[in-house]
Amino acid sequence: MQINRVAVVGAGTMGSSISVAFIAKGIPVFLMDINQEQVDKGLANIDRLLKSRVDKGMSKKEAEAQRALVEATTEYSRFSDVDFVIEAVAENIDIKKKVFQSLDEFCGVDAIFASNTSSLSITQIGSFTRRADKVVGMHFFNPAHLMKLVEVIPGLETSQDTVHTAISLGQSLGKLAVRVEECASFLVNRLLGRYMNEALWCLLEGACDIEGIDKAACDVAMPIGPLALRDMNGADIGLAVAKFNFQEYGERFAPCPILEQLVKKNLLGQKTMGGFYAYDRETRKRSGANPAMSEILNTVHADQKKVKDKQSKGLEFKPERLFLPMINEAFLCLQERICAPEDLDPALCAGLGMRTGPLAMATQLGLETCLSMIEEHFDAYGERFRPAPLLKRYVWGKRTTIS
Ligand code: NAD
Repeated sequence: MQINRVAVVGAGTMGSSISVAFIAKGIPVFLMDINQEQVDKGLANIDRLLKSRVDKGMSKKEAEAQRALVEATTEYSRFSDVDFVIEAVAENIDIKKKVFQSLDEFCGVDAIFASNTSSLSITQIGSFTRRADKVVGMHFFNPAHLMKLVEVIPGLETSQDTVHTAISLGQSLGKLAVRVEECASFLVNRLLGRYMNEALWCLLEGACDIEGIDKAACDVAMPIGPLALRDMNGADIGLAVAKFNFQEYGERFAPCPILEQLVKKNLLGQKTMGGFYAYDRETRKRSGANPAMSEILNTVHADQKKVKDKQSKGLEFKPERLFLPMINEAFLCLQERICAPEDLDPALCAGLGMRTGPLAMATQLGLETCLSMIEEHFDAYGERFRPAPLLKRYVWGKRTTIS
């Protein structure tokens, strides 16, 4: 399907950076928000993003030409000839319901609607329209004009044509567009959640300190350590996501109590100038470990009488421990056919900036070694490390590669 006219609904963090991704490829965008003030905020953000591109070498003329491709509106009535809409409004099912009902009313019958939701069901969102076959998830990563991945998620009723159109649109933005079946947190954030949580459990159990955990993660595969990343994204967001994953997947995603304490003490990370690390109020740069963390850890330890027992049978910390739950979850995803095996590592590398994806890590360790490490951690720490049945089958089948 030829896409000539795109609309982005919601001019916040994601909507404005998604718009920049479109105009960078010469695709005109209607940017819509609830009122003029919100639209103006979105436009100001687009101007800021374009300015930073000019500072990095783009010509002013080019920036002006791109900026001219954005048309702002507060009215759905402008959407009658739009072919493709990306919804990026607040993560609230009632708000999304109203937006999708309005889109259904005002857009042409052939228009496709994509939601940038991080956690809501695409099938449910589709059900708010009379065109569930033309509703799909397109999960961009923040900042959307820079991050290379978009997950394309069909709902139960989404047609193949809609999926193909969304994938080719993602590709025309220069992104890796990966088909991901509908599951809570989709692919990348599901795997990320297991790794982020394990970092916290390592800290809680005294297996390693804050800087040691971050260094270990960066040494193995990551561009930034999990605790520094938690500070960037905010402990409040982290807690909400952790609770959601726990509710959807159960015990292996049990949120580490450190998060709850951080939120209680308003140590949310960079936005409150303190989290795992302390931040300089003027430069906003990291100034070292946050002394307030020892109080948090003491509180959590006092609350968790069992921790002492766990520590006594704890294993010596190895950097791989941070990644074992992610690797195991990757095998669960393959088992559930959440994505094609060949897409999994590229999606993780593009979405998180990993140098090595979890499946490559598993094969580098050797699948048999990887399984025995997971089993050893399962004995010591329980459910978070229950080995994925597919990994066991690969080992029993003497496979050395994953396909
Ligand atoms: P945001 O709060 O920055 O922006 C939301 C925008 O939606 C606001 O400008 C708000 O005025 C607008 N809005 C609210 N109700 C509306 C309505 N009825 N009609 C039109 N506009 C309306 O939020 P965000 O961080 O940009 O997130 C938007 C979506 O993207 C959410 O579904 C979120 O889960 C998802 N997402 C966010 C990130 C992220 O890192 N921020 C990453 C991936 C996906």
